[in-house]
Amino acid sequence: MHEYSVVSSLIEICEENAFKNKAFKIERIVVGIGERSGMDKSLFLSAFETFREESQLCKDAILDIIEEKIELECKECGYKFIPKEIEYGLCKQCGSKNLKITKGREMNLLSLEMIGENQDEG
Ligand SMILES: [Zn+2]
Repeated sequence: MHEYSVVSSLIEICEENAFKNKAFKIERIVVGIGERSGMDKSLFLSAFETFREESQLCKDAILDIIEEKIELECKECGYKFIPKEIEYGLCKQCGSKNLKITKGREMNLLSLEMIGENQDEG
């Protein structure tokens, strides 16, 4: 399943970040999942439940999923907008059909909360 490979690499990214920040525990992971990413939120969560067991750093982490709306950019005039309907139609500014999807097709790591050894300093 697609979700499993995405979650697997998500955990790798989290571990790398924790390592760079000398953190020993990740408390919260916030990801944005695009509405057109083709990923199922509940599958994503159950994949996370499976993978975090194998990760010392992520074991107790909370996963927050934010669903990201799709965003389009017009290739003709550069206008960016969020379409109201599933069918994107035309650029609202110049009427061009030459649109590309700039957001909402992937999974993004938005933020990480972690506990590091320097946490209590200062
Ligand atoms: Zn345009």
